[in-house]
Amino acid sequence: MTDPTRQPTPVLAWRPTTAHHRAMWPEGYWKTVVWRGLKLRCPVCGKGKLFASYFRMNDACDCCGVGFAREHGQWVGSLDINTLLTAIVLMAGVGFGPLWSLKTSLAVWCTAAVVFPILTFRFSRGVWTAIVHLTGGVY
Ligand SMILES: [Zn+2]
Repeated sequence: MTDPTRQPTPVLAWRPTTAHHRAMWPEGYWKTVVWRGLKLRCPVCGKGKLFASYFRMNDACDCCGVGFAREHGQWVGSLDINTLLTAIVLMAGVGFGPLWSLKTSLAVWCTAAVVFPILTFRFSRGVWTAIVHLTGGVY
């Protein structure tokens, strides 16, 4: 049962500091940040780990202390990346893959539709964390 006096955590207002951050970033900084995301590291310092376990992210960087999840619904973007990747891989696989029987095709591609997004989950979260950092959301 929920406490009726407890207020929900407010969604943070959009901060107008993004242009300021961008002005101080060195040329090509976005590549460094996206690479850190693909390596599942903190987009700010590149040292702290994004994940505590396979599916559970840390709330903040254990090295520099920045918060990774700052807004409600922030991870929908990583879900979109993962869904798009999975759709592209499955469509390419079905379209350009070997000519298997229907039974084999269903077995292979249905398994791939479950396994592939699990394998890419962490990396899409990492890239999305980098994108959120570049747009001013992880600080
Ligand atoms: Zn960090």
